[in-house]
Amino acid sequence: MKGNQINGQLVTEKDLLALGYRKYYGKDLDIYYNQAICAHVGNCVRGDSGVFEVGRKPWIIADNGESADHSIAVVDSCPSGALKWVRHDS
Ligand code: SF4
Repeated sequence: MKGNQINGQLVTEKDLLALGYRKYYGKDLDIYYNQAICAHVGNCVRGDSGVFEVGRKPWIIADNGESADHSIAVVDSCPSGALKWVRHDS
């Protein structure tokens, strides 16, 4: 699922916050999460446990991954749409 789109449309911070996503700020990339949508499949945690760690507060640290591109790939692997990303330079 494209992590920067909903129904084929590019998403903005404003859209995501209005839809109930919570923002996790990063230097290059913000990650958004909507708990109500999460299917608890775990692709995120398996994809990069530096960024996503259940039980940690905050459980998402956007700057803690291998690279912004890798974090984007992990967010894109979320099957439910609970994770989204917005890149600062896009
Ligand atoms: S990959 Fe998406 S659906 Fe799966 S646990 Fe992570 S946020 Fe939830």
